[in-house]
Amino acid sequence: MKKVSVECRNIKLSYGKTEVLKDINLRIEPGEFFALLGPSGSGKSTLLRLIAGFNQADSGQLLVDGKDISTIAPHKRNIGMVFQSYALWPHMTVWDNVAFGLIERRTPRAEVNARVAAALELVGLPQYGKRRPNELSGGQQQRVALARTIVIEPQVLLLDEPLSNLDKNLRVQMRQELLSLQRRLGITTIFVTHDQEEAMTTADRMAVMDLGVIQQIGSPSTLFDFPCNRFVANFVGTMNVLEGDVKARNSNNIILSIDGVGDLSLPLHTDAPATSRISASFRPHTVQMEAVGGQGNARFIWLPGVVERSEFLGEFTRYEVRVGEQCITADQTHYAGLSIYRPGASVSIGLEAAQIRLLAGEGQSS
Ligand code: ADP
Repeated sequence: MKKVSVECRNIKLSYGKTEVLKDINLRIEPGEFFALLGPSGSGKSTLLRLIAGFNQADSGQLLVDGKDISTIAPHKRNIGMVFQSYALWPHMTVWDNVAFGLIERRTPRAEVNARVAAALELVGLPQYGKRRPNELSGGQQQRVALARTIVIEPQVLLLDEPLSNLDKNLRVQMRQELLSLQRRLGITTIFVTHDQEEAMTTADRMAVMDLGVIQQIGSPSTLFDFPCNRFVANFVGTMNVLEGDVKARNSNNIILSIDGVGDLSLPLHTDAPATSRISASFRPHTVQMEAVGGQGNARFIWLPGVVERSEFLGEFTRYEVRVGEQCITADQTHYAGLSIYRPGASVSIGLEAAQIRLLAGEGQSS
């Protein structure tokens, strides 16, 4: 089957006076597994339904394989969609559920039989044809919904929160199955999720959405390491953010007067914003912690702090440490025998300049 691209160009959509999609520009490459990630209400499902043809854009273009399909009816788009609820017909057997789309397309009986059998085989349910949906587990129903969609051999597969009805363990197992199925079929797949772990573990690339705007597009590691703003930094993983006024800046360095902490001199990376307020952002696992007086490594910027809270999580301990008027989260890898700092302990917090990302201050655009 030919792998196709999906492209949104300047797509806008409003419900009444509420702009739900604001100038969406997005290109999904042929064969890509692409995630739309964002909080509830950010416009993910609206965009997915628009690609399926259930929503109409007010303006802009939707291209599949380079052809504008904006005016083509949903059932003629060759796009398959799996809904969050699975939407299986309860009175039909698994076999009939999967066969339905083919029969509707007047596919010859022998071909229907072969394709339904192949689809059930593909999702690991070859023996389940005679059962009804209520005789299946949640994970099995999910697989039937997938089989029913892929049996019609769509060029694009859309998945709306496909795993959210499953419990945690099954979700982890099913996301791997989904990915391996997608890899075998090579079908361009777009899936919507509000779960960043789900997006990061499966997607080739993802778009983070908020308030109807795509905030950033990139691979999971790019978005984690180089978020373009505070929203993405906080939505994809946990981020410490120390905000302050820019006191001085030259081509290599910046001096920030961090609110409630004091001056920090930091190297300036090439895409640092030119705003008057800047957020120095860094991940909890990049923070070093030592007992007071123990600091030595000159690679780090050391700040005095007091432990407010510690949470032992096995692999690591998560500390909340007060530094001036700010609170810094520091994750320290745990080894047998390593002691845990208790609340009230005075410590030194080490920040590695190379791990600090400078972002525009809150409410400021770069
Ligand atoms: P998400 O999938 O990110 O949770 P949605 O795309 O479902 O977000 O919704 C985006 C916004 O559009 C929300 O504010 C929601 O209330 C609104 N919305 C969605 N569908 C409709 C509709 N049919 N009529 C009016 N408003 C809608």
